[in-house]
Parts: sequence; structure tokens; C-alpha cells
Amino acid sequence: MATISNRELFEKAKRLSKAKQLSWEAKSGEVGSALLSGKGLIYTGVNLNGACGLQFCGEVAAILSMLKNGETKIRKIVAVSNDYKYMPPCGRCRELMFEIDRKNLNTEIILSEKKTVKLKELLPYRWQDLWE
Ligand SMILES: [Zn+2]
Repeated sequence: MATISNRELFEKAKRLSKAKQLSWEAKSGEVGSALLSGKGLIYTGVNLNGACGLQFCGEVAAILSMLKNGETKIRKIVAVSNDYKYMPPCGRCRELMFEIDRKNLNTEIILSEKKTVKLKELLPYRWQDLWE
């Protein structure tokens, strides 16, 4: 299986990071995201910001793209703003990665060119621990 570097994932996300006004209410592409799945495939997504509380992160779009292909395991993931900065996942995206597959606690979150952390470092006290 070919190895995908963090830089390659960053570049794929960066290419999607072009803000586009879709209507007066909705804008997309302020954040692009790319992930490497358990099967070694790359999935990408862009964010969507609209009115009435409509907001979806780029990571969510990449994850949903992966889910439609029947995969749940994420090896690594990156998000890039449209000024080409690395973005750590928000709390909701951290939770989403955990909830779709517990193995994703070992997902590498790419935070910069030189720094990655595992999801479990970003989610140290999970609410589910009370019931599991
Ligand atoms: Zn998010």
C-alpha cells in the first residue's frame, strides 16, 4: 500500500480551500479537509456555512465521503483554512471521529508540518466512559 505523506494530504486539502459565496446566505470552501482511510484511500471535503445555524466543517464532509464507501477508520486527517493554515478539528469533529469508530482514537491529527497528535490526546475524558 502506498504511503501518503502528511504534506500530500495538506496539499489536497489546500486545493479545496477556496472560499466561494454560493448565495447571500451560504459560503463554502473556507476550510478544506483531506483524510487517509484505513484502506489507504484519500477522501476530501469542504465546509459549508449558511444561515439558520447551517454549518458543516470540512472534516465532516470528508468523513461523510468516506462513510458512503463503507469505511469508518481514519488513519490521518488534516484541515486547511483558505489562508493555507493548518486547523485543528473542532470539538464536534473530534467527537464525530470517535463515535463512528473507537479505533479512531489512534487517528493522527496533523496540526502542522512537524506536529501530529493522536485523537485520544485531544479527547482525554470522553463522556461515554461513564457508560462503557
Ligand atoms: Zn469541526
